[in-house]
Amino acid sequence: SLTAGIVGLPNVGKSTLFNAITQAGAESANYPFCTIDPNVGIVEVPDDRLNKLTELVQPKKTVPTAFEFTDIAGIVKGASKGEGLGNQFLSHIRQVDAICQVVRCFDDENITHVSGKIDPVDDIEIINLELILADLETVNKRLQRVEKLARQKDKDAVQEHQVLVMIKEALEEEKPARSLSFHDEQQKIVRGLHLLTAKPMLYVANVGEDELVDSDANQHVKTVKEYASKEGSEVIVISAKIEEEISELDQEEKEMFLEELGISESGLDQLIKASYSLLGLGTYFTAGVQEVRAWTFKKGMKAPQAAGIIHTDFERGFIRAETVSYDDLLTAGSMAQARDNGRVRLEGKDYIVQDGDVIHFRFNV
Ligand code: GDP
Repeated sequence: SLTAGIVGLPNVGKSTLFNAITQAGAESANYPFCTIDPNVGIVEVPDDRLNKLTELVQPKKTVPTAFEFTDIAGIVKGASKGEGLGNQFLSHIRQVDAICQVVRCFDDENITHVSGKIDPVDDIEIINLELILADLETVNKRLQRVEKLARQKDKDAVQEHQVLVMIKEALEEEKPARSLSFHDEQQKIVRGLHLLTAKPMLYVANVGEDELVDSDANQHVKTVKEYASKEGSEVIVISAKIEEEISELDQEEKEMFLEELGISESGLDQLIKASYSLLGLGTYFTAGVQEVRAWTFKKGMKAPQAAGIIHTDFERGFIRAETVSYDDLLTAGSMAQARDNGRVRLEGKDYIVQDGDVIHFRFNV
């Protein structure tokens, strides 16, 4: 399954945030297919539609869908040169599908900053530069191989050569590969390169507990936002300390606490949702009297593939997907009424599943 990696310089609040993630953690009995690894935290994806479906269907059990964060420790300056645990750090990043970069935006004299001063953009550039240098090495190696074939006018090689040169030029200007746009065929080539700077990036600005309500007043947050918008990345503002406190509360206490703080959604919930959409994930539902459940799929998946997420038998024996959109079901008020309204569709194997679909799969065993 897809995972987002949490990175950041030392002392920026990564462990604090990761603690919050594991403490808020999902009941793993529900997710036997999830990774069991101390560096992986499994969280439930908050989704109000699941609560509404539960009210409507009154099932015995409700199961949210889950999402994995991976804690990637150990970035150091010079990682791309293999210094310290550098190589290991980069190989861990290679394995994740998106990157959440925690950036220190809180002032606290008692907590040392590795560079001796709070300068979030400087911090971001330290990390991003290591990723850029690692990618440059990848691209240069690949260029050496492709150049000769390209000179011989090999069609694929010519195209790859073009892409590589584009990326190389961007990297040399210290721009990540994700800041470039490619057409479909080029995208395939880019994916094959497994570049670190091609992965989607989310910046997590960690502010002080008292700055959460009016985070725009925080000058550091402002500079992070400016930096992120230049490369088209998103910024989430959290207070890791507060998230750690929230993760110890039950749902009711959590809501009260958030109200006291004057915020509508916890930083962690925002982070989960943002990472989810960054990865191009969507949710479909199954809604039976036994169980109402949310399932994560990759947007663009066809019905049989999406069925395979529940069970491989569902994919192998797929016949039809009886489908109603969440909105139509909610408007109708019941499955029977939705059917009377002509809102329940029988979709075949080429149907592209949509976020919010409520599906009953029919399959042969
Ligand atoms: P890591 O090295 O990035 O994993 O950082 P830690 O999570 O261990 O945090 C480093 C120190 O900063 C710890 O003492 C945390 O309690 C503290 N810290 C983390 N977030 C905040 C925050 O929002 N405000 C303040 N004042 N301290 C924080």
